[in-house]
Amino acid sequence: WRALYGNETLVPTHCCFCGVQCGMYLRVRDGKVFGVEPRNHDINRMRLCPKGLNAYQQVNHPDRLTVPLLRTSRDAELRAVSWDDALDYTVDRIQAIQAEHGVDAFGMLGGASLFTEKTYLVGKFARVALKTRHVDYNGRLCMVSAAGANKLSFGIDRAANPFADILLSDCLLIAGSNVGECFPVMTQYLWGARDRGAKLIVVDPRETSVARTADIHVALRPGTDSAFFNAVLHVVIREGLGDQEYVDEHTTGWAELAETVQGYPPERAAEICGIPAEQVEQVARMFATAPRAMAWHARGIEHHTQGVENCLTVINLCVATGNLGKPGAGYGTITGQGNGQGGREHGQKSDLLPGGRSINDPVHRRQIAEIWGIEESELPQAGTSMMEMVHQMSRGEIRGLFGMCNNPFVSLPNYDVVKAGYDSLAFHAQCDFFLSETAANAHVVFPVTTWAEDDGVMANAEARVVRHRKAQEPPSGVRTDTWVLCELARRLGVGDKFAFTSSVDVFSELRIASRGTVNDYYGITYERIDETGGIAWPCPEVDHPGTPRLFEDGRSYHADGKIHLQPVEWHPPADPYDDDFPMRLTTGRTVAHFLSGNQTRRLGGLVEQTPRPWVEIHPSHGYANGDAVTVVTRRGEATFPALVTEAIRPDTVFVPYHWPFPVAANALTIDALDPRSKIPEYKVCACRLERAAAV
Ligand code: SF4
Repeated sequence: WRALYGNETLVPTHCCFCGVQCGMYLRVRDGKVFGVEPRNHDINRMRLCPKGLNAYQQVNHPDRLTVPLLRTSRDAELRAVSWDDALDYTVDRIQAIQAEHGVDAFGMLGGASLFTEKTYLVGKFARVALKTRHVDYNGRLCMVSAAGANKLSFGIDRAANPFADILLSDCLLIAGSNVGECFPVMTQYLWGARDRGAKLIVVDPRETSVARTADIHVALRPGTDSAFFNAVLHVVIREGLGDQEYVDEHTTGWAELAETVQGYPPERAAEICGIPAEQVEQVARMFATAPRAMAWHARGIEHHTQGVENCLTVINLCVATGNLGKPGAGYGTITGQGNGQGGREHGQKSDLLPGGRSINDPVHRRQIAEIWGIEESELPQAGTSMMEMVHQMSRGEIRGLFGMCNNPFVSLPNYDVVKAGYDSLAFHAQCDFFLSETAANAHVVFPVTTWAEDDGVMANAEARVVRHRKAQEPPSGVRTDTWVLCELARRLGVGDKFAFTSSVDVFSELRIASRGTVNDYYGITYERIDETGGIAWPCPEVDHPGTPRLFEDGRSYHADGKIHLQPVEWHPPADPYDDDFPMRLTTGRTVAHFLSGNQTRRLGGLVEQTPRPWVEIHPSHGYANGDAVTVVTRRGEATFPALVTEAIRPDTVFVPYHWPFPVAANALTIDALDPRSKIPEYKVCACRLERAAAV
């Protein structure tokens, strides 16, 4: 890499955190990462947010795990052991549990902050080495509902447009996304469009920093999104604002959809959503009359028992107005984790094989079995989702677990249930580079590399595959996740199928395993990413430019080439409101922290800015800033200092979720799941407030 002053070099890579995947240089001196420098990558044009600027501090942080830890019972303390001892003990426990209770008694959970190569290995290791059907990952908590909607409507699971198209749009609709705090650098695209005069509509129960600047802010009740978007489409049809020619030529299901939204006049949406009926009409007119309009959404509409359906209603609106497949016109979901997109494409999801293939499809099974050198009959069937696996742990159906790159003790809903599930395990191993709350509860902890100590790719929210580069050797005693999986596979007797010595070895197999699918990576190589700054899949050949924008010819990826419109009926959230629990709790992120906080709660500048959680409450409840307030739900209670603000609805409170029990938002949330995607309903449950003596 480019040498600067004496022995300092700049290593071009990307941020490890969110799905924007900003380019950055890591500064390296004497073989150690010690700083960051902005990089003029076209995703971010040298901009970085507070998380990105502080990310480098993790790499040589004093909390790094540098030696394997082991205990043989939960009563014992974790103690340092050799890699051989930790690996042998793990293999011994896997074999003992599976011999006594069957192969499916051992499960595996991966993560969507892993490089795509590692996500591919998680799926292969679970199916080929553990031979278990039980593998899933923490993207199940993130945006699987958007993925489900994409597949149903379009037959392909990714955003339809690149970020750069936002700059060309005349109307931007942001639904359930606190872009300013969760994806700060993405706001440059919004402001770029607005500088040209584009309108901004924000649909969010909270007046977030982006909502504050919107032309229309729809502060609807949590859990009412599909009623709102159905009503917007109702007005579009009623006022003849749609693009009927586009609908007639490119879609199926229009008659059923039009009939369904007839049942959602603005007055009904006003009642369900708690907003003025005129706002529905204003949004419909602003979006549908714009020459080019786009909708982007995130967890705010996805984290619901109606998650897939909420996303479908946004897609229906875009398609009905002909806003698809054009510069400045389209649709996308903003991935939360850095590899939220790539992490779900290549096999660590319980129902999918590499290339987004279905594990239930006999043809797909045969194709992957052949690449993996096993019989199709040896390939396990589909497993269950992450939260369902926790319930199976409690019931004794899953007795052993291997976890990588996740922290369910903070990130899963209904903490008591999660803790009980993990405590029921006879054996639990976890890979991490810091001792997370979940790792601290394990029998074996493997110390693994950070993103700056290995090579690999991630796909950002545009489905652009970008390259992360190794900037330093890992600390002595630390191994890559790839090495851990390959070494365990060798000790389990299938080492010949895991003869990978580097990330590029894995990527080569992944490219072949994805060939011919909608998720085709075959034409993407490390060298081509270096030359281009990133390539959007599908990319079927090494001379193919990639596909930044989908549907330019109006054809979907379904066999009939049509977009399949899906009618949706609104239903209320899972947790009922009554006199005991009359209010709504919603949860989310803050600019200084990332997901479970295992990384950012250790970084000084971020902790200084945001040291603890809080509860946002409307002034009408009579609390003062800093008052101790206990939020009580049917699952538990937690006490926070009040942040009194008019930026939240009077019937709703908000708590950020980056902290562990006893100040865990997820001690309060409900583990009700969307029946289609199995995403938990983090974004709404019933609660009440009680004044507390102290925080
Ligand atoms: Fe990292 Fe996302 Fe911030 Fe960019 S916007 S610096 S990718 S956290």
